[in-house]
Amino acid sequence: MAKIAFIRERDCIGCSRCLPACPVDAIVGASRWMHTVIASECISCERCLPVCPVDCIDLIEVAQHFDPQERSQTIRTLAERRKTRLAKEAAAKKAQFTAYLARFKKAEG
Ligand code: SF4
Ligand code: SF4
Repeated sequence: MAKIAFIRERDCIGCSRCLPACPVDAIVGASRWMHTVIASECISCERCLPVCPVDCIDLIEVAQHFDPQERSQTIRTLAERRKTRLAKEAAAKKAQFTAYLARFKKAEG
């Protein structure tokens, strides 16, 4: 038996606190809308559980067996995907700040 996180969508308030807690981006949802877990990508780390202010995330057992080797490769791939996304977001923020600074300097003369 494997365990995965499951969001009781009816109780989710859409606060998005669980999103940054997940190390493999297995949770999807937009702010103020319900969130959900992509079951095939959840690695059962439980990091999302304590951050939820309304305790609407449960760890449930599913009748699925993972091949340990395949599973660890999947985890590496998902973690790498998240790292790439975070790096892209950081680069975009930096570029935005640089552009803002350039405009500010130009306005100052
Ligand atoms: S248990 Fe871990 S991998 Fe699964 S959704 Fe929560 S934070 Fe993500
Ligand atoms: S932390 Fe809980 S309430 Fe907030 S979006 Fe995630 S599941 Fe929903």
